[in-house]
Amino acid sequence: MHSPSFEIVTVGGGLGASAFAGAMAKKGVRVLMLEKETQFKDRVRGEYIVTWGVAEAKEVGIETALLNSCGTAIPFIEMGYGPRNLIETTALQLAGVSFFHPEMQETLLQEAESAGAEVRRGVSVTNVQPGANPSVLVANNGREGRIFARLIVVADGRGSAARKWAGFSLKTDAHPFHFAGVLLTGVSGRRDICNFVFNPEFGLIGGLVPQSKDRFRAYLGYPTDGSFRLQGGEKLGAFLAHSQKVGPMFMDCYAQAKSLGPLAVFDAGYFWVDHPYRDGVALIGEAAAVSDPSFGQGMALTLRDARVLRDALLSDSDWDGAGRKSAAGCAVCFKSRVRKRTRADREQCQKLPKTFRVCQITCSADRNCRWMKRCGRGSSASVERDLSFREFGNVSPVHGQAANDRLNSAVRAVLSGPRHYPNVRPIDSSLR
Ligand SMILES: Cc1cc2nc3c(=O)[nH]c(=O)nc-3n(C[C@H](O)[C@H](O)[C@H](O)COP(=O)(O)OP(=O)(O)OC[C@H]3O[C@@H](n4cnc5c(N)ncnc54)[C@H](O)[C@@H]3O)c2cc1C
Repeated sequence: MHSPSFEIVTVGGGLGASAFAGAMAKKGVRVLMLEKETQFKDRVRGEYIVTWGVAEAKEVGIETALLNSCGTAIPFIEMGYGPRNLIETTALQLAGVSFFHPEMQETLLQEAESAGAEVRRGVSVTNVQPGANPSVLVANNGREGRIFARLIVVADGRGSAARKWAGFSLKTDAHPFHFAGVLLTGVSGRRDICNFVFNPEFGLIGGLVPQSKDRFRAYLGYPTDGSFRLQGGEKLGAFLAHSQKVGPMFMDCYAQAKSLGPLAVFDAGYFWVDHPYRDGVALIGEAAAVSDPSFGQGMALTLRDARVLRDALLSDSDWDGAGRKSAAGCAVCFKSRVRKRTRADREQCQKLPKTFRVCQITCSADRNCRWMKRCGRGSSASVERDLSFREFGNVSPVHGQAANDRLNSAVRAVLSGPRHYPNVRPIDSSLR
């Protein structure tokens, strides 16, 4: 009988793969990680974990490693209503955590290796074969080879090719806006506040995430408008100018800003696989489901996938059954937490463990809305009220779901432009 050297092979060595592989290796499972990059570079990815994701990071045992190396605890969040102290106002009393994504990847890959996982870098997976003896085909220095395992865990990110090779089909719900990001230095913002602000009047979303070494990750979401893409160094001026329109917190802070990395833009929306497991192949992280980046839930969901799969495998010797169970749970969570919820999804969501019912105390728009007052115009009262509930996705399934749904559709309507929202001015063409 065929006996593979590894019980688990991961395709990729990003957040999802490292968190999962490290957690399994700690339990004595033989894990091999295959990562194509020999050195991680700035791909413009998520660099702020929301509080329920930090709880997940604790659960899979990586939170301390992050905070002891590249991570910074960010106690406040500003969403246009005044800084909110997350430690004082979240059920789990946690701050958000930020880092430079490539440093986080290095840290967690090393952690997984220290926990006992074997890591091979500079190795590209070129095919995945599901079945009774699942395997991957790998290319390394011009040589190809096949590696068998009891389970293949595909964690190769948002553009996952392995997902396709393994025969999964992708569903899409594209949103009519783009999301751009760039790493900056010389920003004059506060280092203990993460800013994520929706400006419904202009249909813009601004993000500014402080991290160590005088670096800030800046994001800008804007409505799709023909082929206009904020991409490449020559568009940095336009990126900063549009960002300054989002709200006062972005107005002065970019005067001395310089970029430290590429300016890249992404199509926003949801892209997912309905059931991310089949025949010895499990998908986790963005290979399984990509969420709209402006809601900042991607890494929390990725860590949740890693934990749920770990727990399923460790509690059931039938890994095929465990894979199916884990996939069903993850799909429900993605649909019910992140995508439009049906009544049935909501009922399922309420059965989730308590950790996920992170009920946040909502801010009062009346008390804190300096920005709306300063603008002296702007969004409709209902959007404003809904924004006060949204709290960056940390909404209790019990208390906040309906408000969150309303907000999502309000923001989506705004972002789709004047067609749906007559006051929205399209992005200023003179700044292009
Ligand atoms: C602009 C933007 C902003 C975002 N902002 C946030 C945010 O604020 N908060 C948040 O929580 N999330 C955010 N996200 C989402 C977040 O980046 C993802 O959820 C997270 O990176 C997913 O991790 P992953 O491990 O699934 O994939 P990845 O991080 O993409 O890792 C995949 C790894 O697989 C490797 N790989 C790929 N193909 C192969 C192959 N064939 N063989 C071997 N190795 C391979 C890659 O080199 C990479 O190291 C954002 C995303 C974008 C695009």
